[in-house]
Amino acid sequence: MSNIQDKVVIITGASSGIGEAAAKELSSKGAKLVLAARREERLKNLQVEIQNNGGQAIYKVTDVTSHEQMEELAELALKEYGRIDVLVNNAGVMPHSFLYKKKIDDWNKMIDVNIKGVLYGIAAVLPSMREQKSGHIINLSSVAGHFVGAGSTVYAGTKFAVRAISEGLRKEEAANNIRSTIISPGAVTSELINAITDMDLKPGIEKIYEGAIDADAIARAIAFAIEQPADVAINEMIIRPTSQER
Ligand code: NDP
Repeated sequence: MSNIQDKVVIITGASSGIGEAAAKELSSKGAKLVLAARREERLKNLQVEIQNNGGQAIYKVTDVTSHEQMEELAELALKEYGRIDVLVNNAGVMPHSFLYKKKIDDWNKMIDVNIKGVLYGIAAVLPSMREQKSGHIINLSSVAGHFVGAGSTVYAGTKFAVRAISEGLRKEEAANNIRSTIISPGAVTSELINAITDMDLKPGIEKIYEGAIDADAIARAIAFAIEQPADVAINEMIIRPTSQER
């Protein structure tokens, strides 16, 4: 039996890309899912697909930039399933631009979703995980959490922050048996690059994404981290297309 069987897993950003792929992968291994994102129709369709395949899933329309909504999401998981075993803090946005373009709304969005959203997720699940003396928080960083490219400055800043937060979480909660995993993907096919409006950058990024790998690759990495025995923590993985140099 898979070590994922019957684990209660909350996934943010489950309405597309990596989150959706992770939901399908974890459901196929017996996880009980709590799906979150803002687009209800996508969540509903995914729930139906999972249920038609014999899996278990509920969903809640959730904006990760709202601390209150993230608390409500965790409360729903506890009410429906009685516990939370894993949180996949996956929701993220990447509207790359050069600093001089002063796309300040985009900077704020990245900080709110990519950093504050991750923190609100951690805040929502830590009390019950500390009480049950087990749990696993998986945070999506990026290759941009290791390497800063021109035009990806603010996004990289948020993804460096995700790694710092994950490492601090690991240290703080080791004694409570709570695992922390950083997943850092390279180019993965999803809706992520659609938000880029800086046309000095977009064609170059689209070129890089011609070599992108499927979101399934990241879903399998997430499953690998979860299915390890409780005393084994996969703390960090970088998963790039083989052909991606940086
Ligand atoms: P997608 O754009 O396909 O998915 C992003 C998800 O985040 C969507 O489900 C979206 O749902 C959700 N989301 C965005 N804003 C919010 C919000 N305010 N509240 C709740 N959910 C939100 O991209 P990916 O699947 O590629 O991205 C997943 C993660 O992987 C991100 O953290 C990204 O930074 C990271 N990553 C991706 C890489 C790639 O190449 N694809 C590379 C490195 C890292 P909705 O709009 O319905 O709310």
